[in-house]
Amino acid sequence: MANYFNFIPYGRQSISQEDIDAVIEVLRSDWITQGPAIERFEQAVANYCGAKYAVAVSNATTALHIACLAVDLGQGDILWTSPNTFVASANCGLYCGAKVDFVDINPNTYNLSVDELERKLTAAEKQSCLPKVLIPVHFAGQSCEMEHIAALSQRYGFKIIEDASHAIGGSYQGQHIGSCQFSDMVVFSFHAVKIITTGEGGMVLTNQEELYQRLIRLRSHGITRNPDLIQGESHGSWYYQQLELGFNYRMTDIQAALGASQMQRLNEFVERRQLIAQRYNHLLQDLPLILPWQHPDSESSWHLYVIRLKLDKINKTHRQIFEELRSAGIGMNLHYIPVHTQPYYQKLGFQLGDFPQVEQYYEKAITIPLYYGLNEESQDKVVVSLRESLI
Ligand SMILES: *Cc1c(COP(=O)(O)O)cnc(C)c1O
Repeated sequence: MANYFNFIPYGRQSISQEDIDAVIEVLRSDWITQGPAIERFEQAVANYCGAKYAVAVSNATTALHIACLAVDLGQGDILWTSPNTFVASANCGLYCGAKVDFVDINPNTYNLSVDELERKLTAAEKQSCLPKVLIPVHFAGQSCEMEHIAALSQRYGFKIIEDASHAIGGSYQGQHIGSCQFSDMVVFSFHAVKIITTGEGGMVLTNQEELYQRLIRLRSHGITRNPDLIQGESHGSWYYQQLELGFNYRMTDIQAALGASQMQRLNEFVERRQLIAQRYNHLLQDLPLILPWQHPDSESSWHLYVIRLKLDKINKTHRQIFEELRSAGIGMNLHYIPVHTQPYYQKLGFQLGDFPQVEQYYEKAITIPLYYGLNEESQDKVVVSLRESLI
């Protein structure tokens, strides 16, 4: 996006000279579509996260789609996710012909509530409508309570795909998010506003060889050249077989080179984001706001800094404050419009009132600017503008 004069966006990428050089190197090489840079990027992410396998794809939406297909989500099945997410976390279920439902949020973490999940599973078991897949979303970079969720998946038999689009570089119980210790697969997004970027891009991580082979196939038309998987006799060295209906969801080597280069800066990115968040915690503490609460098991990557307004202590509406700050050149945002309130989901039968916690959250939440290149001067401007608007 254009760098508007004096406008502070809510998020923005950081591209170094090394990043640019890495991309140029690929442009001068023999491979620009899927080639050696893809494998390097996949290895870098898998190693960092402590996962066995990684599959790079065109974006996190396609990553979520093939992750759902890899566990055979289809017609007659049910997928649950959080209503406090980008629409892609739910749409992937609909792509597969499954039904989608939501688990209301924990009002402290803004992640899906495990108590609510447990209650809903008990009710679903009685009515024989248990979900086949659960997509916990690590909102703002803070992990969901994965150990508890994994225990519930053992009891009720659903698969877990973590939507960690916000969360690369974050940790849960001392382990990097992406390890798949408590899930079948983990999905990352490398969209420009996320922690690291490839322009557009996504990845699926897993520790299960069978899922890995399936993901590789689904990424590329359902085609294999693997002699172990070919049915019957190979016709020769040119031979491949389409074993199922897949897609072209590949990432380019150009993007992967950028991704591999950005991975080397990941720790630096997250450390800087943590510092900015701590500075906000300190500078905003006396304002009529609820600041982000962190679960002791989780160390956030701080993709977003979300405040909630104490509207009973403020003489303005949520919308007024939002507009005032935007006019002051502060790129406020709102993550997220609860998915079930979107017109498309309303047509599917969801109603306002279905998930009261996320609806209350939406009435008070504001995302304020947080990104690697946000300097202290700009951060101070955000704080001063907020203070002027609130008091
Ligand atoms: C960004 C995002 C996505 C989609 O990512 P793309 O790479 O843009 O497809 C999915 N889920 C969440 C939670 C996101 O923030």
